[in-house]
Amino acid sequence: MNKISKKEYKEAKNIVEEFDKELNKNFVSNYTCVCCKTNVIKPINNMNPLDQDNGMWDGGVVVFLNAGYGSIYDTDAFYVGICDGCIEVLEKEKLIKNYKELCKNYSAEKDGDYNFNKITL
Ligand SMILES: [Zn+2]
Repeated sequence: MNKISKKEYKEAKNIVEEFDKELNKNFVSNYTCVCCKTNVIKPINNMNPLDQDNGMWDGGVVVFLNAGYGSIYDTDAFYVGICDGCIEVLEKEKLIKNYKELCKNYSAEKDGDYNFNKITL
């Protein structure tokens, strides 16, 4: 296998980064909160459009909903934005569950990670 020079590497890397920015510009946009339909969640950084749920968002979260068997939307998938204010209200109303709280109650924390092998009910 031929090695590429540092200059070729940098040129190729720039092309990939420009490609990502262009995709980002066209496919990653602001999301209006699906709950209050008012607040807007904005992307903070460049991200892969297909991996938006792992990106950084200002004022809320964007999640990937992947519909499975049993839903009329089986095989469809969606990106959904929810603002921080609505998450707070939904959590207080117990309409959403906090993953960290679930882990605290039903697992043992070790070094910041949750170990479900130690569940004792
Ligand atoms: Zn909201």
